[in-house]
Amino acid sequence: MAVDLVLFGPPGAGKGTQGMRLARALGLAHVSTGDMLREAVRSDSALGREVKQRLDSGRFVDDAVVDALVADRLATPSCAAGVVLDGYPRNLTQVASLDRSLTRLARKLHAALFMEVPEAAIVSRLSGRRSCSGCNAPYHLESKPPRLEGRCDLCGEALAARPDDAPEVVRGRLDVYRRETEPLVRAYAERSLLRRVDGTGGVDAVADRLLQAVGGAP
Ligand code: AMP
Repeated sequence: MAVDLVLFGPPGAGKGTQGMRLARALGLAHVSTGDMLREAVRSDSALGREVKQRLDSGRFVDDAVVDALVADRLATPSCAAGVVLDGYPRNLTQVASLDRSLTRLARKLHAALFMEVPEAAIVSRLSGRRSCSGCNAPYHLESKPPRLEGRCDLCGEALAARPDDAPEVVRGRLDVYRRETEPLVRAYAERSLLRRVDGTGGVDAVADRLLQAVGGAP
């Protein structure tokens, strides 16, 4: 039976880093809508040109676009064992759409993991964040520096800061998060799917807590 998990929390909570690790530990696919959208921008596809401005300014991309991206991805063989969804759903409309996509595949959500990080920690986390322009691998200047400055450990491509991590954009992203995404906490709690996980501290400690919240490796 597929194990489908949602990983959510404020921007800078560590969803990318932890989503990749959790997926690897559980043998699931890591599905990040942010990565998929950035990939579309890099490939200069029609979709990429349409979403670039939204991404750079920290605004959400239209629900219909991300809903379709995720529905298509969930139906691929790489996701048959289940997924860790990182950055999706991000509002209540997307919550309903995810339910429909899973139902079509005769699956249902196993748990929604909420990474709790105080707001004060978020801005400093985001300002040091870098990611690989080739393979999206996440880094942080302080907590997860690359072995060679400015280069990805995995593929050697250059590391870059995200335009949407600029301080003035971060404030807007936090507002959008509070308005749109925070209501997921209550919605998933009401369905007994919510698992709160302390997202502060080192990467390994948080990874252990997430695994525990899911119930350990299968
Ligand atoms: P992330 O990497 O998850 O922080 O996402 C980066 C940006 O991609 C967000 O600020 C949004 O502009 C866009 N994005 C990612 N996931 C979604 C989503 N589920 N719904 C709408 N926009 C999204």
